Amino acid sequence: MQKLQLSLAIIKPHAVKNPVALSYIRNVIKNSFIVVKTKRISLDKETAENFYDEHVGKFFFNRLVTFMSSGCIDLHIISHTNAVELWRRMLGPTKVYKAQFEQPNCLRSMFGLSDTRNVAHGSDSDTSAEREIKFFFPDFSFYNWHTHDEVTYRKGPIIFNHHLFQHVRKL
Ligand code: UDP
Ligand code: MG
Repeated sequence: MQKLQLSLAIIKPHAVKNPVALSYIRNVIKNSFIVVKTKRISLDKETAENFYDEHVGKFFFNRLVTFMSSGCIDLHIISHTNAVELWRRMLGPTKVYKAQFEQPNCLRSMFGLSDTRNVAHGSDSDTSAEREIKFFFPDFSFYNWHTHDEVTYRKGPIIFNHHLFQHVRKL
């Protein structure tokens, strides 16, 4: 079996506040990925600016960081043999009208409100996933992941802990 790849999913504030959207998205995540870590945080504007520093200077930058710091966000480290691409495929296009036109069943079509409030974030490569996971989970050890945890999750047995919203090793 192929090795598990990591990605970071972030559920954006408007979706965290909408119980129907949130429960649908959480079901999709837990049924499609191994969930390695979950936490809910609220971002201050400066941290949001640092996270999105690749977009500094773009017309939507201020709108984006204001929105991302407007309420709680849910962070999920997810894994799958093809986690980065699979999660981005499930999200669909960045722009919600394009998503609704081209891929009516993707998450951004179903729950997106605007190009900024487009439901969730997904890392766009292995390199971004590593940077983003380190950014929000500074204690997460990539060394342990590669030498130990990846095999444990891949070979199992694992069970889903609903309270933690994480898969854990079945003892
Ligand atoms: N964004 C926006 N307007 C745009 C393009 C992007 O508000 O025209 C926001 C949107 O929330 C998006 C985020 O900026 O998710 C990051 O943009 P990126 O191009 O990286 O899209 P993503 O990788 O999230 O699909
Ligand atoms: Mg992006």
